Amino acid sequence: MTKNKLELIFNYLDEILPNVGTELHYSKDYELLFAVILSAQTTDVAVNKVTNVLFSKFKTLEELSEAPIEEIENIIKSIGLFRNKAKNIKESAKILLLKFNGVIPSKKEDLLTLPGVGVKTANVVRAELFKIPEIAVDTHVFRVAKRLGFAQLSAKIEDVEQLLRKKIPVERYILTHHQFIHFGRYVCLARNPKCKDCKLISLCKEPKKNI
Ligand code: SF4
Repeated sequence: MTKNKLELIFNYLDEILPNVGTELHYSKDYELLFAVILSAQTTDVAVNKVTNVLFSKFKTLEELSEAPIEEIENIIKSIGLFRNKAKNIKESAKILLLKFNGVIPSKKEDLLTLPGVGVKTANVVRAELFKIPEIAVDTHVFRVAKRLGFAQLSAKIEDVEQLLRKKIPVERYILTHHQFIHFGRYVCLARNPKCKDCKLISLCKEPKKNI
């Protein structure tokens, strides 16, 4: 990918999405962590609906760690994989209290010891809470990165993450991550991307036909 293409992409994203961040609602660090755990294979809007209730009912890590699992399940049952997610939240709350004094760790290897936390979740948490430059590849980042030519259309998630890390300046990691998510969510949608309105169509690898 040439420098010109990169500049075109960054300038365009800065123009249409200058100030973007997470759309998950949270007021405490552990709430962000649990919201990200809950967001696997579901939308941020759906997560915000359940966390609004969950975090009002159980107001501290201690309360979440002691909450009856059925009550957590009942509150989050509208989202996918709710039984596993309920278990992971309760277990993570316990581990955070026991091993980390109730403080979310910033090290990736520590975050990865928490149930329900994989590389993507750890990266999102590190970037959001600690402003550590990370690129988390979710479904939107994965699709947008390939369409914009950062990786082959056939590339795997790990390849896409590595290529993004190489091609995006470190100081832009966090912003570009959010811009890709918003761009993928509202413009470059999976099935019906709004290519007519997209100024990146000339370099796109997968523009929608018949527009
Ligand atoms: S042209 Fe369409 S598919 Fe390509 S990046 Fe723009 S919105 Fe996405």
